[in-house]
Amino acid sequence: MELKPNLNPQAFMESSVDFIFKFSTSDNIQSFYECLSSHKPIEIEGILTKEKSYSETFENQVNEYIVPHRKSTSSYRSFYSYFGYKPVAIMGLAQGCDKQCRFCLRWRIEGGKEKIFDTHLIEEDLLNIEEDTIMIFDNDMISTSEKIHMLCDLLEKNKLKKRFIGYGSVNAIMANKEAIKRFKKNGLVALLVGYESFSETEMEYYQKKSKVTDNLDAAAFLKEQKIDVWASFMAHPKWDKADLKPLENM
Ligand code: SF4
Repeated sequence: MELKPNLNPQAFMESSVDFIFKFSTSDNIQSFYECLSSHKPIEIEGILTKEKSYSETFENQVNEYIVPHRKSTSSYRSFYSYFGYKPVAIMGLAQGCDKQCRFCLRWRIEGGKEKIFDTHLIEEDLLNIEEDTIMIFDNDMISTSEKIHMLCDLLEKNKLKKRFIGYGSVNAIMANKEAIKRFKKNGLVALLVGYESFSETEMEYYQKKSKVTDNLDAAAFLKEQKIDVWASFMAHPKWDKADLKPLENM
């Protein structure tokens, strides 16, 4: 069972749970604590209550991206790590994903169209980060050239030298090569790439927006650019050695 209150609040509906945030915004979090401290009933959009049998009287929404108050976690930040980088900060540039792969929950939670956050918010967030390495948790960090150039403009304008890691799709690697070269000069060190499969039939079934040949071309480009890759595959139980053979060309 997936524990995603946005899509599956039922998973939390049991007697030890008093409140379920189906979605969170700065407003509903603020109102929640105000009601709690003044002992008022919780009748707030986005929040299901045990008292009302978790009944839902509002439209579902996407969680709001709230710029983190990083100082509040200063005692723990030296422990934060991601794929061997430590310490690492995480931040977002956008929510949602246009690719809408069949197996993926993230676009279902965040929306099937990417929305880039306000540039001022991104700049404020970047300037608040003390760590040298930043993991960008966007579904596709390099989704468009515009987004990559926006980030590079902010880094160059503020003379920030950081290392960046994050998720990148094959589709975006193929479409945004020149922008990725600029990003590399501004600190891009590694991408987690969902290649998924070497079978065209499986790629189509997964509703990937790239072909097997794109996987190989994207891998060659990243190798040439000396950008590290964490390659991700959906190894099917029926795969055998022959299915992994194309890996030798990557
Ligand atoms: S590209 Fe990644 S985040 Fe976007 S839908 Fe596919 S698997 Fe999900």
